[in-house]
Amino acid sequence: MIDIQTIDNEFCAATYGRTSVVFDHASGATLFDAEGRSYIDFGSGIGVMSLGYGHPAWVEAVKTQAEKLPHTSNLYYSRPTALLAQKLCERTGFKRVFFSNSGAEANECLIKTARKWANDTKGEGVHPIVTLRNSFHGRTIATVTATGQDVFHTHFGPFPDGFLYVPANDIAALEKVLKEHSCAAFLFEVVQGEGGVCALNAQYMKAAQELCKKHNVLLCIDEVQTGNGRTGTWFAFEQFGLSPDIVSTAKGLGGGLPIGATLFGEQTAQTLTAGTHGSTFGGNPIACAAALAVLETLSSDALDDVRRKAQVITTTLSALPTVRDVSGLGMMIGFSVEGKKSAEVRAAALKEGLLVLTAKDRVRLLPPLTISDEELQTGLQRLCAAISA
Ligand SMILES: *Cc1c(COP(=O)(O)O)cnc(C)c1O
Repeated sequence: MIDIQTIDNEFCAATYGRTSVVFDHASGATLFDAEGRSYIDFGSGIGVMSLGYGHPAWVEAVKTQAEKLPHTSNLYYSRPTALLAQKLCERTGFKRVFFSNSGAEANECLIKTARKWANDTKGEGVHPIVTLRNSFHGRTIATVTATGQDVFHTHFGPFPDGFLYVPANDIAALEKVLKEHSCAAFLFEVVQGEGGVCALNAQYMKAAQELCKKHNVLLCIDEVQTGNGRTGTWFAFEQFGLSPDIVSTAKGLGGGLPIGATLFGEQTAQTLTAGTHGSTFGGNPIACAAALAVLETLSSDALDDVRRKAQVITTTLSALPTVRDVSGLGMMIGFSVEGKKSAEVRAAALKEGLLVLTAKDRVRLLPPLTISDEELQTGLQRLCAAISA
């Protein structure tokens, strides 16, 4: 029998510390390894499998588009691409969308648009983008620079100019930086995912929006992880009375296929013009057909159910004596366990047949949004066993 782990370890770049499992197939929110052992999925890949595995609407959409027309390039019009852009705009109130293939690319587009907008409207010169400490915006050279965590800033310098960092939830620090520098944009995550599932303070975000208006700076939100129903609304910002100028998203949007999207409001809808940006695979018809299935399946009723299930999870967790600091929004949940490292909880969960994620020193849960009550209960039982193991 061929040993996949040995082959991977020899031939794939050693960028990932993989867990010693080779999954074979999956259904609903349950994965099966090569030996037929089952695992409940509380990670969705990393927030990607929003409809779980084998959702009939998603499978049908992908199969049909793969047979019909998988790719045309952006030299021509494509039906799923146009319809996805329309449906996303109608659902969220944005005016235009640029499609790419990942979260980092969606943020690259956001950064380029913010810079061009500043150039067009405020004149040439340096127009920095302010980001938060403990943020995460991606792994490309520009997005890793936008990421406000020093651990990501080793090895790969020099980094591009034009990013300034402030601590989260500190409105005075934001005001100071906007006063001292002529800036293009302020960019943040409503819930810092990789940073440890830290939800920003609601008043802070409202006050930040006011400051951005006052200083004529674009309000930009990275909804790569929080978007697409994850927090119980299509975008997380909707719950806080915010109206951002640019939003980026990816992860759960394609339900398992790579797609990123950057959405532009009134102010930025005309910023990108012919030839200013592009992507060979961006708006790929199969990925867009998959995303259309995700968008249609995650109706407002389905999102009511996301909020209900999120409540079940947080209530269960909060009742456990060693669980600390349950945080997050909707089905994006973080916590720590007294006396246990997050990696230990993850390993104990794996033994119980449950997949969880970590974010820094915290355990992170991002279950499929369509998880059944039965799988949710089984998963929670396994989680409780792992926590008390
Ligand atoms: C995952 C993530 C990204 C990067 O997305 P990729 O698809 O890995 O490039 C960017 N921002 C946030 C908030 C993320 O969670």
